[in-house]
Parts: sequence; C-alpha cells; structure tokens
Amino acid sequence: MTERIVSEFIESNVFVVSKGNECVIVDAAANLSEVKKVVGEKKVFGVLLTHGHYDHSLYANEYAKEFGTKIFASEAIVEYLQNPDYNYSEGQFKLNDFSNFQFLNGEGTLNLGGMKVDFCQLGGHSKSDICFLFDGEIFVGDVLIGRDIGRLDLHGGSKKEMKNSLEKFLKMDYQIMHSGHGEDNSKEVQDKVVKLWLRFLSR
Ligand SMILES: [Zn+2]
Repeated sequence: MTERIVSEFIESNVFVVSKGNECVIVDAAANLSEVKKVVGEKKVFGVLLTHGHYDHSLYANEYAKEFGTKIFASEAIVEYLQNPDYNYSEGQFKLNDFSNFQFLNGEGTLNLGGMKVDFCQLGGHSKSDICFLFDGEIFVGDVLIGRDIGRLDLHGGSKKEMKNSLEKFLKMDYQIMHSGHGEDNSKEVQDKVVKLWLRFLSR
C-alpha cells in the first residue's frame, strides 16, 4: 500500500510504502509529526531520497533518528545537501552529518525488511536523481512531474541526461508513477508524455 503525504509548506510529496507491518518512506519534506501519523505502529526500514533539493530531503536525518533507520540516496546527493545554493533552501538547509546515509550507485536492489526495492540512477533534473521501484510502482522525484519534466536549469541539470532518463522510463516495467509533486499517473499516460518530451528535447 502506498500513502501520499503532501507536505504542508512546499507541497512536495512524501510517500509511505508499506507491506504488512513494515514500511519505507520516500522523500522527506513533510514534518515528522505528519509522517508519524501515517507510519503509526509500522516499523520503518529506510528513508529513500529521490534527489537532493531541500523540498525533498529537508527532514531526512530527523526521520532516520526517530525511526532508527538508514537513508538511501545517490552518492551525488552529498554536494547538494552540503550546499544551500545547490539544494535551493536559500541558506536554510545544510547537512554535515552523513552518518545515517547509505549511498547508492548505478542500479541494484535493496532488501529493506521484507520489501524488495530496485533503484536506478537517473539525471536531468539534478546529478542526484535516482528512482525506486517497488512491485510495479515507481518513484521518480522531479525527473517527471505528471505531464512535465523537471527543471533542467538548476545545478547539475542536463538536457542530455534528461533524455537518457526518459528513455529508461519507456523501458521500465511499472504500472503507477509517483512524482515528487502532484498526482500519480499510469504507465500508459506517462509513456505518451515521455515520447512527446523526447521529441521536443531532440529538436
Ligand atoms: Zn527538485
């Protein structure tokens, strides 16, 4: 089951993905009390970050400490979290403590409690983009936001990398895409969106 929390102050999505009494949290923009309400009695086996912009990563260490779990993110996230100019928090957010982090590179599978999560590094919106795939549900952060692609003009953004990411989505097997903002979409819809963007970006 996937539950979506829309963070109060920036309208970013946080997801609690659960299986029985186990869960993981995707992204960390909602304050801890909002997340605790949804987690309830479930045991948390990881905090997964889709990228390093502050509106997705702000509370990661708080969640990790509260729930006694690790944070999983692309290794490229460090430069974003360390630098408010790159995470766009206007000087508000800077992380120096990475002791709770486990860094991911390339592609692979994580076993978090009884849950299996595939991950794949992406790019385009930031160097730290990574997506997570659980049982037919993909979490893509801001690479693709509904019918739009994420901004390419921020630190580490790249049109070429965005095209590579979009090509990967076409090949991936999923049913539902969850973005960092806004509603979910089906693969059928997202494939149409992706093909349009690939044509646009190739002009
Ligand atoms: Zn972003």
